[in-house]
Amino acid sequence: MFVDKARITIKAGDGGNGAVSFHREKYVAAGGPDGGDGGRGGDVVFVADTNVGTLLHFQYKKRYFAENGQPGGTKRCAGKNAPHLVIRVPKGTVVREAGTGRVLADISGDQPVVVARGGKGGWGNTHFATATRQIPRFAKPGLPGERYELELELKLLADVGLVGFPNVGKSTLISAVSAARPEIANYPFTTLVPVLGVVKVGDEESYVMADIPGLIEGASEGVGLGHEFLRHVDRCRLLVHIVDVSGMEGRDPVEDFEAINRELIRWNPEMAGRPMLVAANKCDIAPPEQVEAFGAFIREKGLPFFPISAAAHTGLQPLMDRIAALLQTLPPVAVYQPEPVPREVLLQKAKEDKYTIRVEDGVYFVEGAWLLQTLGMVDPDDYESLQYFQRVLQDSGIIAKLEEMGIREGDTVSILDFEFEYIP
Ligand code: GDP
Ligand code: MG
Repeated sequence: MFVDKARITIKAGDGGNGAVSFHREKYVAAGGPDGGDGGRGGDVVFVADTNVGTLLHFQYKKRYFAENGQPGGTKRCAGKNAPHLVIRVPKGTVVREAGTGRVLADISGDQPVVVARGGKGGWGNTHFATATRQIPRFAKPGLPGERYELELELKLLADVGLVGFPNVGKSTLISAVSAARPEIANYPFTTLVPVLGVVKVGDEESYVMADIPGLIEGASEGVGLGHEFLRHVDRCRLLVHIVDVSGMEGRDPVEDFEAINRELIRWNPEMAGRPMLVAANKCDIAPPEQVEAFGAFIREKGLPFFPISAAAHTGLQPLMDRIAALLQTLPPVAVYQPEPVPREVLLQKAKEDKYTIRVEDGVYFVEGAWLLQTLGMVDPDDYESLQYFQRVLQDSGIIAKLEEMGIREGDTVSILDFEFEYIP
């Protein structure tokens, strides 16, 4: 069975808690704090696996939780970081947040992508000793790992998409020009799984052609298979529209051609506007005047026309050469960029979700569930990340609130695992 959509839950590991502990030794009354930091929770990482062709395995396993970091120990012992949890998906899988549809990642490269970040471990009480606070009886809890409901969707990475009615010879063509061996049979819907074929251009170059299952009329409205499969050509840089001109099945080439185009437009007008080449197939058994008439119709529309026979391997080279030449001029396969949480959403959350500020020993502790979500992943070693942190503090009104409470220059603000001096 071919499955190209899945819904799963992932959760990165929580950070381990920091420890509260004090150095103890025989004959030493009370030592200093020596509570270690908690370990980092494991990330959930996606990686493209070329041996995996479908999202089928997600039908059976839907929850992917990375391990939590270990808590800190005594004697400054840090808790162990948890290992990352790796999820293997077919190349071209787009990872979206369910509900909002926000793109989190496009697994189309070779690099692993972290989709859910593990929580940082909390600091042990060792960190909190200061000249005035020699016996810190607190440590920081680990931060929770990110959790997402995800929608996975396989959007094949192919340069060329073959479109056309069932039985027109798409599978025959791809097996004639590449090493791909899809099933070929004289009945509709033989192709239930998209097949990718690599077409060689000379010695060095190549492009990828996708044989996708046939469209049928009404496909874009969800009738039959078409709807499910049209999305596979979403990323293709150009389309090769294959039309059976033999008339053997009582089909009219012009009607077929128009019907498929209507489906493409209904599915995605942008996609229907991509460059298209038209291949008239089964010319070996077609009446020449029918081929001619159809060719005239296509040229009239300003589209390149190629009479071929996929089965007899005639006319294929000019078509392949033209595809290669055209691809040189076209932008590369589209890659979906991750979309950040819109700022309005963050600020709205900040308004709705309450946070509390309590003051202890001149330290302002800011706490709230929302903070975790938006600020929990800020990397203090990264300048941009810190700027973002500052902005959120400003925009959410936390700074104003602190000022209202009488914070003064040099006072300490403690948010999550950040501690910084307030500078007006
Ligand atoms: P698809 O459904 O578009 O993938 O079509 P297939 O490649 O499975 O082909 C459907 C039928 O048409 C098969 O029986 C093929 O052998 C036949 N066919 C494909 N190309 C040609 C051709 O150029 N000439 C002839 N005579 N038959 C062909
Ligand atoms: Mg086929």
